Amino acid sequence: MSASEASKPLKVAIVGAGLTGLLTAHALKKNGFDVAVFDREHSIDARPRDWTILLHWALPAFTKLLPQEVVAKLPEAICNPNLDFDHEAESVVCYNGDTGNVLFKNHLPGSRRISRQKLRRVLAEGIDVKWDKRLESIDTGSGSDPVRLTFEDGETFEADYVLGSDGARSKVRELLFNGDKIAEVQPSGFMFGTCIVKFGDAAKVETVINTHPVAAIWMASNGVGGCGVMEVDDPEDKSTWTTFWVKIWRRSALNLPAVLYGPDALNFLKETTSGLVEKFQSQVDWTPEGSTSYIDEMKTWVSIPFDTRAGRVTLAGDAAHPMLIYRGQGFQHAIMDANNYLDALVKIRDAGEPREAVVSAYSDEMVERGAKAVKQSLQEAELSMDLESVGKMLMAKQGHGKSA
Ligand SMILES: Cc1cc2nc3c(=O)[nH]c(=O)nc-3n(C[C@H](O)[C@H](O)[C@H](O)COP(=O)(O)OP(=O)(O)OC[C@H]3O[C@@H](n4cnc5c(N)ncnc54)[C@H](O)[C@@H]3O)c2cc1C
Repeated sequence: MSASEASKPLKVAIVGAGLTGLLTAHALKKNGFDVAVFDREHSIDARPRDWTILLHWALPAFTKLLPQEVVAKLPEAICNPNLDFDHEAESVVCYNGDTGNVLFKNHLPGSRRISRQKLRRVLAEGIDVKWDKRLESIDTGSGSDPVRLTFEDGETFEADYVLGSDGARSKVRELLFNGDKIAEVQPSGFMFGTCIVKFGDAAKVETVINTHPVAAIWMASNGVGGCGVMEVDDPEDKSTWTTFWVKIWRRSALNLPAVLYGPDALNFLKETTSGLVEKFQSQVDWTPEGSTSYIDEMKTWVSIPFDTRAGRVTLAGDAAHPMLIYRGQGFQHAIMDANNYLDALVKIRDAGEPREAVVSAYSDEMVERGAKAVKQSLQEAELSMDLESVGKMLMAKQGHGKSA
């Protein structure tokens, strides 16, 4: 190898420009790696769905991984950046949805609720994402070769390392398991319905924020749900604010409509949500026609170890550990993955540590942590379905902190 080849930065191909892929791309770029990011979508705006995500225990690691100019733009992603982030705003409250009594309240110092779409836009700045690149295959050749990625359009790309951050139905995971069914994401048996609402009425928005300034959870005899603020146009005029409400229920409890989005989803969610205490029920009943609505079955995959192809291919984020949304852990673990993957590649590059051992150690830790978090999320869902067992939930006993 010539001196100029030896000093070339290591080339990392990241498959998937969701939050995990974009965050990892910034972290690697900031530390001198040559990074290429690929995504199957046509553009950053191709997928209109949005949801809110609470950044909490992993927020310090998240900001540490990003360049200063991106950190400076993070307020653009916060659902309500104008709030006075006091003790109350940095908490999560859970109500009994039947009575309105507080079941428990967790303090999450420094936490911020963001829009997934807005954060993705902020994170995409400064990253040259190659759109319309759907990964089809990975050729790992012999252990010392670069890895060759082939996309649906026939284009290929070679890299020293490949990170699969391509979400719950990860193609990279499928390829790592040679197409074995054991790598397939599993339906959880729990449904998730969302309504994004613009009431155009300050008093109705007050009803939402009176439950909590950021977002509140309810647990009732016929399901679990929540509500909160999604976007603030004019901070002085609440009639311009966008709010959301969500609902989770056991799939077997209700017959689903044929179409799981749009008016059919909204009608179904309204018709099947009744008996809640006024402050939650009224939000459902007031939801205007035409509000964005969709229903999904939440999916999981309990992470299991895989062959990293001599330390050249691994996973991060939902590709590695898709879990239920309980306690908002999914992206927190993705941040840990990005942090640990960066550390692993730095060890290989700067300390000359062996590639296979280092990447396998990264992957093994992630699999163990991810599997535990996925199982915990399933257990939380089970316990949340009965008001009698809510008190046994991790959410009630030890809060939203790191538990895996
Ligand atoms: C309603 C909801 C609420 C949530 N709340 C929280 C919360 O409060 N706190 C928290 O920590 N987490 C939360 N999460 C979880 C969090 O949203 C996810 O963990 C995180 O967004 C995962 O990002 P990702 O980049 O790993 O995956 P994704 O966002 O799925 O991104 C994967 C990307 O890969 C691309 N891709 C897929 N296949 C291919 C292919 N073959 N070739 C090329 N590209 C491909 C896709 O187009 C996509 O852009 C929540 C999730 C939901 C749904």
